[in-house]
Amino acid sequence: MKKIVLGKTGIEAVRFGFGGIPIQRVSERQAVEVVLHALEKGMNFIDTSRMYSNSESRIGKALSETDKKAVVATKSFNRSADGIQKDIETSLKELRLDYIDLYQCHAVGNEEEYRRVTAPDGALSGLLKAKEQGIIGHVGITSHSLDLLEKIVDDGLFETIMVCYSFLEPAAGEKVIPKAREKEVGILAMKPLSGGVITAAEAALKWVFTCPDLLVLAGIEEKAYFDQNWKVFLGDYRLTGEEDRKIRGIITEFDGKFCRRCDYCLPCTAGIYIQFALGVRSMVRRMGQRILDQPMFQDIWEKAGNCTECGDCMDRCPYELPIPEMIRENLDWVNALIKQKR
Ligand code: SF4
Ligand code: SF4
Repeated sequence: MKKIVLGKTGIEAVRFGFGGIPIQRVSERQAVEVVLHALEKGMNFIDTSRMYSNSESRIGKALSETDKKAVVATKSFNRSADGIQKDIETSLKELRLDYIDLYQCHAVGNEEEYRRVTAPDGALSGLLKAKEQGIIGHVGITSHSLDLLEKIVDDGLFETIMVCYSFLEPAAGEKVIPKAREKEVGILAMKPLSGGVITAAEAALKWVFTCPDLLVLAGIEEKAYFDQNWKVFLGDYRLTGEEDRKIRGIITEFDGKFCRRCDYCLPCTAGIYIQFALGVRSMVRRMGQRILDQPMFQDIWEKAGNCTECGDCMDRCPYELPIPEMIRENLDWVNALIKQKR
């Protein structure tokens, strides 16, 4: 089995891990069964989050029904020491564990948030206290910002990072991954299919697996889909001519319309969190239509409707995306979906 050691944590795991987002959108039994199936086949790393509604509890139920052992990682959006400690308690209960191998600060977006997390009363100090108490093993952080991840790796306060990495988002291969490797920070690679945007799953997974030292996470909610991905993981990562053509085709198709979630376009004069407004389709695809009812989503959506088309964000986007046009298209898409639901 292809394994890696996650930096200085010493955690040894199979290089392909279970992403806990999509199991929210199927029945509880199906979710439990797919986790059990993955463990049975040999996967032994599971990642989830306090943010993913019932994902932790479904994973906890699966773990209670098997003798198979897995390294369990979860994460929290809470930025304060007290807040994250409460979340750790909840995670332990939901996952039915008395110890969580890796607890991460979830989606830290910018330097200001990072400062809050690392302040004396910030989430990091809560995590370190929990580590001292022996209820978590290691502390990690996830972010979509490569600049921030570079700083995080330099600071050396976190033992693992989680970074987006796919053929549509290859920049981490130059910017963050080599540095993390050098400093022995464990690297978790998320979104190998760019949040569901990439349809050529086999080619995309091969492309990511080719990079050494990464533990690649992919969201899975069906056994058949797991089996396809697992076969790719166990196989040979050389791309066929056809796969190479598909990759080039997808890169060309999305060139000019793919948001890399770097946040360089902020601040928006209308207070829109642009990457969320642009990423709504993949969010609904991954998390299911239930997120349309969540207050956080509704807030993003109401704000997206306030775009004045001032164009300030476009001047700052290094990929020259037609942001207002993309927001408008997504607004139409979401409104149609909401109408259909009613
Ligand atoms: S064009 Fe729209 S999204 Fe961009 S800064 Fe102006 S209001 Fe915000
Ligand atoms: S719109 Fe452009 S600048 Fe803003 S997050 Fe997406 S890729 Fe980055």
